[in-house]
Amino acid sequence: MQPFEYASPKTLKEALGLLGAGWDDAVVLAGGTDLISLMKDGVVAPKRVVNIKEIAELKGVTKTAAGVKIGALVTVDEVLTNALVRASAPALVEAAKGVSSAQIRNMGTVGGDLCQRPRCWFFRAGFGLIAKHDGKDLAVEGDNRYHAIFGDGPARFVSASSFGPALVALGAKVEISSASGKREVEAAKFFVAPASSEQHEVDVKPNEIVTAVVIPNAVTKNATYEVRQKEALDWPLATASVALTMKGTAVGSAKIVLGHVAPTPYVAEKAAAMLAGKTITAETAEAAGKAAVESAKPLSMNAYKVQIAATAVKRALLAAAGVKA
Ligand SMILES: Cc1cc2nc3c(=O)[nH]c(=O)nc-3n(C[C@H](O)[C@H](O)[C@H](O)COP(=O)(O)OP(=O)(O)OC[C@H]3O[C@@H](n4cnc5c(N)ncnc54)[C@H](O)[C@@H]3O)c2cc1C
Repeated sequence: MQPFEYASPKTLKEALGLLGAGWDDAVVLAGGTDLISLMKDGVVAPKRVVNIKEIAELKGVTKTAAGVKIGALVTVDEVLTNALVRASAPALVEAAKGVSSAQIRNMGTVGGDLCQRPRCWFFRAGFGLIAKHDGKDLAVEGDNRYHAIFGDGPARFVSASSFGPALVALGAKVEISSASGKREVEAAKFFVAPASSEQHEVDVKPNEIVTAVVIPNAVTKNATYEVRQKEALDWPLATASVALTMKGTAVGSAKIVLGHVAPTPYVAEKAAAMLAGKTITAETAEAAGKAAVESAKPLSMNAYKVQIAATAVKRALLAAAGVKA
């Protein structure tokens, strides 16, 4: 590991002053469950590490006029147990349950989950986000069993955050601060598919810190369904997070967002539109699942994910509507 300077500021203002213009200047350290392994593997080699865990203003869950505000330092465990989050955002709680190690849940934070780097083995081996080597597109020509099934590239990794799809479905906003002020980004726009390895996969600049996420007050029936290879310490193969605004027993409007299938959470608009005015049944949920994966373009080794993603949508819709099929 390259030697680095370590800072542990007590305020957000102080922390922001310690960041730099480039990713090599400084990085933010929250729980460290991802960052430390990136540094040990030499994928990230900053001159300075800025520990934000001592900053009280980034902690806690509060009810605000805009909705439920979850501080960036709230841990995965706190998401699981917080009454406000449990009442308004079962989709997020279910995503938190999926982080299946007690240690990671205890240390890992909401900000860190959103900003965690992709698990793509080409990226982790130092080939960059676009994973090109000697003119070859490694994710297209190599072992791509866990890669994206949506999109035309050039990025083929999948967004590693299971919180992302849930927050997109819930219409959440991400609060981001820099020394020059605060901005708010819709969760749906926070994740970006980079066009080159120089770009990042989230809309956060090197001199910025994610401070909170806000889940709006809208009343929705929401749920997440994850499909995993095994009950172990690993990321899901595919997830679906859904949020339904009801008109009586029928769906008024729906949001369906797939996770771990594209470089960003994948919003299945057509499938969601199909549900308007319908009651959620095994049949309507299955049809929405099929529609959600209609435009999938799997790579050579990951066609299996298409059926899994369709099933995740079906089961998330049934769970949200409380229908036993
Ligand atoms: C075995 C294992 C299984 C896992 N399974 C899942 C899973 O199923 N689903 C899932 O979603 N996740 C999963 N994770 C990932 C886990 O949730 C993340 O590692 C964790 O949430 C990261 O939080 P952290 O606070 O430790 O981040 P850190 O490791 O401290 O940081 C991660 C990255 O985010 C940046 N960062 C952190 N906080 C901020 C901030 N506030 N503002 C700006 N940048 C920031 C850091 O600079 C770094 O680049 C798993 C991890 C492990 C090790």
